[in-house]
Amino acid sequence: MAWTCTGATNAELIANMGRFGLINSERIQAAMSKVDRANYVRHRSGAYEDSPQYIGHGATISAPHMHAHALESLLPFLHPGARVLDVGSGSGYLTAVLHHLVSAEHGTTGTVVGIEHIPELVGWSMENLRRDGLEAAVNDGHIKIVVGDGRQGYPSVGPYDVIHVGAAAPTMPAALVEQLACPGRMFIPIGKAQQAIVQVDKDGEGKVTQRELFGVMTERNRLESTAGEGQEWVLSTTVRKD
Ligand code: SAH
Repeated sequence: MAWTCTGATNAELIANMGRFGLINSERIQAAMSKVDRANYVRHRSGAYEDSPQYIGHGATISAPHMHAHALESLLPFLHPGARVLDVGSGSGYLTAVLHHLVSAEHGTTGTVVGIEHIPELVGWSMENLRRDGLEAAVNDGHIKIVVGDGRQGYPSVGPYDVIHVGAAAPTMPAALVEQLACPGRMFIPIGKAQQAIVQVDKDGEGKVTQRELFGVMTERNRLESTAGEGQEWVLSTTVRKD
């Protein structure tokens, strides 16, 4: 299913994901159409491939189908004005799509915070956002990219209606669950040897429930980790078919 979505253009890639049932929502289709993946990769030749691309510093931009799955899961909470935390924001691609999903054309604009622990990627993602026409959103603080350890979240802007996590955590990070709004939803890959995507819901009374959505294949971050054996976060890349 995954690789067959590759297109010759951004529009074709998105249309293929619609055709194969990876995107079911018109809102997601519209938001992804506003973000040209070519502005968020190192080599334009692979921009519209439905596969992860290496973006340097041991990181990858996730595959488009993985972004689509995340957006479909989080969509009910992505209303205009929502607050969103994108953990492991890397290229800035998903941060940009999330921005469009929480911004009404005439009216409320939400806030999307991307947190990334590699400073060089933070700088590059800001350039990418600018190239993609989002300079004003960055200047106005509607999009904020910060250098930091995503495992701690970013409490000063929370609580968040939505938290997206792009790197697999060995265990559920308590700080992120804490920073979810009531109600709120988090999409996070969890696991050590094998990872699965977990959807975490916090209801209006603060009750937390978890549901495993599907397995994912991950690529270990090749950078030295300061977190200690078994504690580092790894990159989640493609859906595992088992
Ligand atoms: N969602 C992004 C990147 C996915 S790869 C995109 O699609 O472009 C996962 C990212 O998480 C990498 O950029 C990696 O550097 C980052 N990361 C890994 N551990 C992290 C941590 N503890 N805090 C913040 N970012 C982290």
